[in-house]
Amino acid sequence: MGYKIGLDLGSTAIKAVLVNGNDMAWRRKVATAPGQDHLAMGLVKDALEQLGLAEGDIEKVSATGYGKKLLSSVGHTVDEISANAQGMFILSGGKCRTIINIGGQDLKVINLSDNGKIYDFRMNDKCAAGTGRFFEQVARILDTPLELFGELSLKADEALELNSTCVVFAESEIVSLLAKGARKENIIKGLHYSIARRITHLLGRQQTGGDIYLDGGPSQNPGLLDALEDELLMEVKVLPQPQFTVAFGAAIS
Ligand code: ADP
Repeated sequence: MGYKIGLDLGSTAIKAVLVNGNDMAWRRKVATAPGQDHLAMGLVKDALEQLGLAEGDIEKVSATGYGKKLLSSVGHTVDEISANAQGMFILSGGKCRTIINIGGQDLKVINLSDNGKIYDFRMNDKCAAGTGRFFEQVARILDTPLELFGELSLKADEALELNSTCVVFAESEIVSLLAKGARKENIIKGLHYSIARRITHLLGRQQTGGDIYLDGGPSQNPGLLDALEDELLMEVKVLPQPQFTVAFGAAIS
């Protein structure tokens, strides 16, 4: 059986995976920038070079994500929701019933039936609140790398109340907390709770009772996961490579 490649051209990151059977044999991401076609094909070239494969070894290249139509040399495209559902269902060993996907610019909830079919879907893409972009803005305001948010929030002694869901108002709220001498750790923990409440709201009461999985770039933040579990009063699972679920799903679709 040939190898399959999945490309996820997201709003902030382009992800590529090479799949052998149902095994994610290789993965890499680059930041989204002009020339997405060139960037994505560069990732394909890297995969082939690093694994010592020739183009003829690749059975299929599939693309998904906002930028999927920008690829001139990829014939097979998959919509993001189907790719996410398919990828998560397989990678979770058929256990996932609800996906919470946090991307660079949107927040999605996808409900799956026992055979992995999508039966409900909700999305917030109207504003940056609760998305990767929101995190990036707060990282800039706090002058703190986003990658440290999880670790820092776990050192907080309280979660400061952040009421603004709009990034413009959140900025003035955070600046005023900093001026009052608030610890960054406590602001970040407050931010995680504010985003967790937003996710809980989108999740609604339609959960099937099955396992809930979080994916997308911000799911790598353990502080956000803690806050979400606390708000939902239930376990939320994160797979080892949560930013690559959608690319994986495209590859196997
Ligand atoms: P998209 O497909 O929309 O580009 P991704 O699922 O690739 O979205 O996630 C990208 C987002 O994840 C970016 O906004 C980035 O800031 C965020 N992100 C990446 N790594 C981390 C991390 N370790 N902690 C929190 N957020 C992260």
